[in-house]
Amino acid sequence: MKFYAIGGFKEVGKNMTAIEVNGEVVIFDMGVSMEHLIELSGRGLNYEDLDEQKLRELGVLPNDLILNTKKVIAIAISHGHLDHISAIPKLIRRYNCPILATPYTAEIIRRLLKDHRMEDYLKYVTPMQYGDTADLSQNFKIEYVNMTHSIPDASLIAAYTADGLVTVGFDYKLDNTPTLGNKPDYRRLKELGNEGIKLHLSECVHISDEQRCPSEKVAKDMVFDAIDRAYLDSSAVFITSFASHIARIKSIVEANKGRREIIILGRSMENYLEAASTLGLIDTSKFTLAGRPKTVKSNIENRIMKNPEKYLVLSTGNQGEPNSVLSRITNKEYRYNFRKEDQVIFSSTVIPTPINKANRYVIERNMKEQGVRILKDVHVSGHAMKEDHRDLLRILNPEKIIPVHGETERLASFASLCEEEGFIIGDTVHIMTDGRYVNIK
Ligand SMILES: [Zn+2]
Repeated sequence: MKFYAIGGFKEVGKNMTAIEVNGEVVIFDMGVSMEHLIELSGRGLNYEDLDEQKLRELGVLPNDLILNTKKVIAIAISHGHLDHISAIPKLIRRYNCPILATPYTAEIIRRLLKDHRMEDYLKYVTPMQYGDTADLSQNFKIEYVNMTHSIPDASLIAAYTADGLVTVGFDYKLDNTPTLGNKPDYRRLKELGNEGIKLHLSECVHISDEQRCPSEKVAKDMVFDAIDRAYLDSSAVFITSFASHIARIKSIVEANKGRREIIILGRSMENYLEAASTLGLIDTSKFTLAGRPKTVKSNIENRIMKNPEKYLVLSTGNQGEPNSVLSRITNKEYRYNFRKEDQVIFSSTVIPTPINKANRYVIERNMKEQGVRILKDVHVSGHAMKEDHRDLLRILNPEKIIPVHGETERLASFASLCEEEGFIIGDTVHIMTDGRYVNIK
């Protein structure tokens, strides 16, 4: 078995790995670098318009040319975050093979392909329920196992190969009281461990936090408290979170308890909500979709200006993205301008990249200058922390481990945890970098 580290080994994002067994390859995830993607829009460039080569040069796409001569039989996607799926429209042309994904993830991928006017490729999207197995060939069978993360239908992928079982733990937390969906399928995870795992691949985004990640239930309590207190003032209340975090958005809707009209502002927010609605994960009749940023109906803005105490505005902009609704309001590009009494709740954390930190600094500074009251970090993470990783390693008990989804420092910190658990760096744990491969014996 050969493991290819294609993207996600020098940064948080751009995730793409592959396993080769007897000349056949399965790719796991196909994401972009969110940092470089945001840089594009800052330079006035559009992802949809740029070709594959240019995007690779700009650092947006993973460099998968190493797979050029390989027989790729499937792409198995772990979950629907953009740093795991956004490269699909740019790279699928060269593979023309099934794209396996859980139902919500599959719906997001379909929308992505349609956005890129690639309807011809919709036929490759293959929805997989938890427990389903795709019997791809003599060399590969792929099973999806229920996991928890910060997006619906997250999964741990079990890849049965002719050279042994591989488990793919890309973006998970061990949430025993999730507010949407079920807790991780511990029974199945234990069974996989008992069957004997050759190689485990694990994300390592929050490896430096020496604790377990709190449950989404904790975030729900925080959201309820933040909204109850915000409503003590008769000012406009804005709240922002990750557009794909449907569980969180549901909590926001529940916390509102019907007291205010909820208005959704921002294209990505609408896109993810519509996808969730299609699968019955959220009831969109409970709020008003205001339209895409350029076409936001001015009557909605007029209504908020007239009676701010009647509205809760759920918008994009939690990372301070320059083209988000919150940034545009602070830049006075909308009819609605922030007023001194207004409140903005960030139900998110800053994804720690230099560009996000800079963007958040700018948006927060502008808001403060406009007298806005800011409430930050009404949030818990969707990523496993050090002690969650230790828990999963003990359940799965793999022979070998490769950490993914981080710079060398993060990968090395995960390797250090593995050493604590009895693994040996360079022998049973491999620290990889983009563009390299390793033979797993
Ligand atoms: Zn994720």
